[in-house]
Amino acid sequence: MDAYIGDDSTGPVWAAPVGSAAPRDLCTDCGVSRSGDPKRCGKACQFIAPDYPGLEAQVHGRARDPARPDELFFGPFERMVRAALIQPSPGAQWTGITTRIGEKLLEGGHVDAVLTMAADPTDSWKPMPVLITKAEGMQAARGMRMGYAPLLALLEPARAKGYKRLAVIGIPCQIYALRALERELGFDRLYVIGTPCSDNTATEKFHDFLALLSDAPDTITYLEFRADYHVELRFADGRKKAVPFLQLPISKLPPDFFPLTCRTCVDYTNALSDITVGYMAGQGEQWLIVRNERGQELLNLLGDEVRISPVGSAGKRQGAVKGFMENVKRSAGGLPLRRMPGWLRPIVGWLMPRIGPKGLEFARTRVEMKAVETVIHLRREEPRRVKSMVPGHVWALVAPYGLTREEGEGGELSS
Ligand SMILES: Cc1cc2nc3c(=O)[nH]c(=O)nc-3n(C[C@H](O)[C@H](O)[C@H](O)COP(=O)(O)OP(=O)(O)OC[C@H]3O[C@@H](n4cnc5c(N)ncnc54)[C@H](O)[C@@H]3O)c2cc1C
Ligand code: SF4
Ligand code: SF4
Repeated sequence: MDAYIGDDSTGPVWAAPVGSAAPRDLCTDCGVSRSGDPKRCGKACQFIAPDYPGLEAQVHGRARDPARPDELFFGPFERMVRAALIQPSPGAQWTGITTRIGEKLLEGGHVDAVLTMAADPTDSWKPMPVLITKAEGMQAARGMRMGYAPLLALLEPARAKGYKRLAVIGIPCQIYALRALERELGFDRLYVIGTPCSDNTATEKFHDFLALLSDAPDTITYLEFRADYHVELRFADGRKKAVPFLQLPISKLPPDFFPLTCRTCVDYTNALSDITVGYMAGQGEQWLIVRNERGQELLNLLGDEVRISPVGSAGKRQGAVKGFMENVKRSAGGLPLRRMPGWLRPIVGWLMPRIGPKGLEFARTRVEMKAVETVIHLRREEPRRVKSMVPGHVWALVAPYGLTREEGEGGELSS
């Protein structure tokens, strides 16, 4: 059934008008600046002075543990698995685990509402924050949209409606702010389902990218960067197309295509969620990072609807990360990217899924690339922010590539 989206509270999917955004420098408009107290950005923002160890301890009972090396990459966790819904949900980004968890929470009466994104009625690629109160309404949230929208601006309306138990589905910069403010929000129970996020940009700019991928960009209904080094496109007429990463028109994008926020954010895998639902280590399936008891409770809700298997890992990431770092340095310095000769691309494009890092090693590769990118771009564009914005775990990730703290960039690695 089509879910209702409107500004009254009679349907299962409720979108409210939100206040205007306060002007901010580095900002992905998570919604805090539109709330009753916009000054809370100072405490809530991951782009100002994030405290990952402190919030990890608050949420999970402990910060990431250096004795468990994968926590350096992915944040604290109890277990990681590959997973797929046995009956994939049509319209979902992968098999729809995220949506199904939301449905189960509502069906079982565990929450009063789920705060998440639906598609904006004027642009199916544009996210729009909504509060969903009935399981059937979750259908409106399925799938990935590109861009950001003020998710957390609906926290105050949720409280005003008397919702005490809330689930929030969000990307890392939204979940950081949510956790930083959690204690003062006054909800009795909060379930947090996070997805990884990287390389996001404003929806308007994303449309320019779609226009480079097809003569009929409006017919593209789905896009995903898969772990087999291909981008999958789906079209309105049911066609599917897989484009090797190397064939993407990335070099035709303007230098400001990705905003500085998304080139420098430090939490790819949403370390403050109860459960992260991604795909990077899934080798074609979904990848779940269960971070605490509440995350396990959320996974348990799926019962035998979900197929679980161990995560795998293969290959070596160092060469790929080094090559990436050299290119980031060139582009940050205004130099053209070192591009592979045209004749070599199809060969390397064929080889990458076969010999490139896979499973957990692929996920580690992407997290290290993002960490490298953060340090290089921030140093170049906002050097004064390096000290407060780059947490210790990021410095530890980039150290093997020769990027170490310089004078004025902060102290001990454990912070
Ligand atoms: C911009 C972006 C980049 C991503 N990059 C990666 C990545 O690099 N690696 C990786 O493993 N996973 C990434 N993901 C997550 C991945 O695309 C899937 O969303 C996730 O694996 C869940 O799949 P699913 O089938 O369970 O989701 P579904 O059941 O289809 O549910 C998707 C959920 O995501 C929410 N959502 C969609 N778009 C947005 C948005 N723009 N902002 C906030 N919430 C949104 C929806 O409201 C819905 O609740 C990214 C997601 C986004 C939004
Ligand atoms: S991202 Fe959120 S917390 Fe940060 S400045 Fe923007 S509105 Fe404020
Ligand atoms: S890439 Fe980072 S900053 Fe940008 S939208 Fe995603 S989580 Fe937020």
